[in-house]
Amino acid sequence: MKFNPSRYTEMEYRRCGKSGLKLPALSLGLWHNFGDVDDPKVYRKTLHTAFDAGITHFDLANNYGPAPGSAETNFGKILHTDFKNHRDELIISSKAGYTMWDGPYGDWGSKKYLVSSLDQSLKRMQLDYVDIFYHHRPDPETPLEETMTALDLIVRQGKALYVGISNYRKEEAAKAFKILKELGTPCLIHQPKYSMFERWVEDGLLDLLEKEGVGCIPFSPLAQGLLTNKYLKGIPKNSRAAKKHGFLQKAEITPARLQQVTALNEVAKKRGQSLAQMALAWLLQDKRITSVLVGASSSEQLLDSLKCLQNEKFSKEELNAIEKILK
Ligand code: NDP
Repeated sequence: MKFNPSRYTEMEYRRCGKSGLKLPALSLGLWHNFGDVDDPKVYRKTLHTAFDAGITHFDLANNYGPAPGSAETNFGKILHTDFKNHRDELIISSKAGYTMWDGPYGDWGSKKYLVSSLDQSLKRMQLDYVDIFYHHRPDPETPLEETMTALDLIVRQGKALYVGISNYRKEEAAKAFKILKELGTPCLIHQPKYSMFERWVEDGLLDLLEKEGVGCIPFSPLAQGLLTNKYLKGIPKNSRAAKKHGFLQKAEITPARLQQVTALNEVAKKRGQSLAQMALAWLLQDKRITSVLVGASSSEQLLDSLKCLQNEKFSKEELNAIEKILK
């Protein structure tokens, strides 16, 4: 396979917190669109488009599909054919924390679950190690020390190079960072949900990440497609909201939301961007954001999203107009 030789000059790379690792401004997530229900021709092309554009970071988890696990299997196949000479140019992430198999050891945050789950992920992707392994969500019952010790162990076993946490609130994140630091495996990155429609991270989490030198990679930056112009004239047939296995519920596409989307779309037009591009650029203007973790059901969508990098700056007037719409 031949890839675009200028891919690394076309992409912007940002340092992940105070680590040695840089990530592309846009990373590609494989939660939807890469499972056994999806078209391999389509997702293979999306992966090529991503790498050609300098996207070096692919985000997976044990349960991505459907069926759960199939996104890792499908990604692994393509990795070992099309990308086989490029492993050292790639950052591959996986996670465990949500329900994966039956019984008491296939969910949440025990050492038993995390270690076994990563072993399964490595088999599915045919890899010796992942670059980043995350605890996917906080576990209210398992002592945080056990979960963090499991992450540290995984790094010492050589099964992951770095570790991260996802969906942790500010207070629990601070505790996790402290434990990991003491263990000698500092937390590389936090993966929270963050978009124009979901802004809880602005209430202290981003400040904490900056203070602790931990990177930030927001997921669902387009609110699963709501922050694009696709739902303005109804629910398109192949959209996430129309799919049985899609996580975006039709009930979330309310008239009030659509009114906001319409108004945001006008601001985007004035900036010469699509709404998707503006929603991504709006996150990237904050230098505490290491990378924005976008999804794409086609290579055309990803190409559209990538153009956000051409205009990441906002005037005060534009920011005020956006705030007024979001209030
Ligand atoms: P987005 O908010 O980026 O939504 C992606 C969807 O938006 C696409 O499937 C597509 O919808 C639509 N879309 C994307 N680009 C465009 C475009 N340019 N124009 C129009 N529509 C567009 O992110 P996701 O919700 O997919 O999440 C991204 C990644 O974040 C996941 O793949 C996963 O890696 C990670 N994630 C992590 C979670 C965690 O708990 N840590 C939870 C959720 C996600 P359509 O399919 O309708 O075409």
